[in-house]
Amino acid sequence: MENNYNDYSKSTTNATPTKKCKHCQTDIPKKAKICPNCKKRQSMPVWAIILIVFVVFVILGSFSTKGDSTTTNAETTDKTESTEAQEGTKEVEVAEVVAEEVEVEEVIEYTTYEVGELLDDLNNNALKAESKYSEQYVELSGELSNIDSDGKYISITPSDEEFAIIGVQCYLMSDEQKDKVMEMSKGDVITVRGKITSVGEVMGYSLDIDEFK
Ligand SMILES: [Zn+2]
Repeated sequence: MENNYNDYSKSTTNATPTKKCKHCQTDIPKKAKICPNCKKRQSMPVWAIILIVFVVFVILGSFSTKGDSTTTNAETTDKTESTEAQEGTKEVEVAEVVAEEVEVEEVIEYTTYEVGELLDDLNNNALKAESKYSEQYVELSGELSNIDSDGKYISITPSDEEFAIIGVQCYLMSDEQKDKVMEMSKGDVITVRGKITSVGEVMGYSLDIDEFK
């Protein structure tokens, strides 16, 4: 309440702006660096600020090199950027190492199958096939049996079945993939990597293509 009153009086009068001493709470001129009453300094000396930032960096730095949270890294980076360039660089290096670790964790493992295996499983027990393959990352090889004229998908069927009706509909996810399909022909034996998005006894399998092998 007292502070609110002071703010109000400051903005409505022409009196010299004041602040409270951090040590004895006396009203003193706003620009005063040393309190006229208790003779204490109002702001920390520059060397003290640098020392504190340095100590904080060392503590947080030792945390992050032991592989702790990225939040800690980000905070430390923020604090050091404004101080010493050398330390900032060190911290950025740590952040880069963390980023690399994250990328390594994202490497996908594909399980290799023939399209025929997937269709046999589907014929034998569609429910079992759904639980086995749905949302799985697979590397599939089979015969290219259809190329969609709109370039949305291709179909692959088992290479040893001439008149296979159902197969795997592989959806093209990028222009780069479309370019590769441009060079293919029906009947080619191809290998695709991707994630199976749906399994159905009528439509067969759907897959989002990650890449061609
Ligand atoms: Zn004072």
